[in-house]
Amino acid sequence: MIHLNCFDRQWQEIGSAVHATVERIGAAGRYILGEAVCELERALAARWGLPWCIGVGNGHDALEIALRSLGLDPGDRVLTTPLSAFATTQAVLRAGGEPVFVDVDEFGLLDLECCRRALADDSGIRFLVPVHLYGRSLDLDRLEQLAREYGLVVVEDCAQSIGASWHGRHPGTVGNAATTSFYPTKNLAALGDGGAILTASEAVANRARALRHSGRSPSGSHDVVGCNSRLDELQAAILGEVMLPRLDGWLARRRSHAAYLLEHIHHPHIRLPATTDGHQPSWHLFPVQVTGGDRGSLRRHLEAYDIECGVHYPQLITAQPALAGRGDIRAVGGLEVARRLTREELSLPIHPFLTAGELEAVAIACNAWEA
Ligand SMILES: *Cc1c(COP(=O)(O)O)cnc(C)c1O
Repeated sequence: MIHLNCFDRQWQEIGSAVHATVERIGAAGRYILGEAVCELERALAARWGLPWCIGVGNGHDALEIALRSLGLDPGDRVLTTPLSAFATTQAVLRAGGEPVFVDVDEFGLLDLECCRRALADDSGIRFLVPVHLYGRSLDLDRLEQLAREYGLVVVEDCAQSIGASWHGRHPGTVGNAATTSFYPTKNLAALGDGGAILTASEAVANRARALRHSGRSPSGSHDVVGCNSRLDELQAAILGEVMLPRLDGWLARRRSHAAYLLEHIHHPHIRLPATTDGHQPSWHLFPVQVTGGDRGSLRRHLEAYDIECGVHYPQLITAQPALAGRGDIRAVGGLEVARRLTREELSLPIHPFLTAGELEAVAIACNAWEA
């Protein structure tokens, strides 16, 4: 079976290094907010080219804490995408924001022209939460321009985009803060939950540090009601000592796998992810669009070849039962492109542990599909 993720092969590569890290942290006897978290925060900040990084419990909390640290007040409207992990919207709601959904572009990314129209119609929108979905960066120049023009506070959801670049810049460097997730399937993954916030603002960093730790200030007083969302030492040490040093090698394998699939899949009804000059995706996923025939038929066909696929995402966030009947969410227009992608998108295996033979099998199976 060719899986979407392959944790047993990952473990073969990292197992002995993880054992050594567990041994060291176990013996050191400091398990929460110690040196390993500080080290990881420094390393990630350096990699991002931003001065501040705050490790937190997961990618959802990173978004919620970043929004609160940036002064989101209950009732503030937040432009965001209906095509993402539910966590993106859930974080907005938990921070007290009111999501305003706009459509996505042909790549599945927040459509900045739709954002512009929504902003022109509603001068009350203060926040923007774009997602660099599938590991594809939004156009950072246009994003920056839009934010400046409308005075928006931007939190970039980079849970899928570690390793992507746009004309030499990294997603997560144009907003007021960036967030990421170390969920095990992500490009930079823990052996459990984890997440981080990155920002150029020391004040935002200080607020986020307090919020993740029950609102506790460095003096020990509790100045705000926060939450408990600390990244633990063990995950931080595994991330910093085992995963981060291997990340560039794994990203290179994802890129090479993507190049292979782009070159070898030829099917009139399978639209491959478009490449754009100057843009290097992180290839968190390899999303194709099934433009003719039926996605379910391609999926069953690939499964018959022992190839596992995924759908990101089968339903718009706006259609999730948890949001039914809520008065605090709004959609601009019919979200037609996003809706189409919920029917057409299919994610093929792209993880770093695929063999050359498995990649070839994926391409051959796709080409053999009779739509
Ligand atoms: C995974 C993911 C999240 C949530 O991260 P968790 O660590 O699972 O909370 C948020 N946004 C996007 C785009 C994601 O892919």
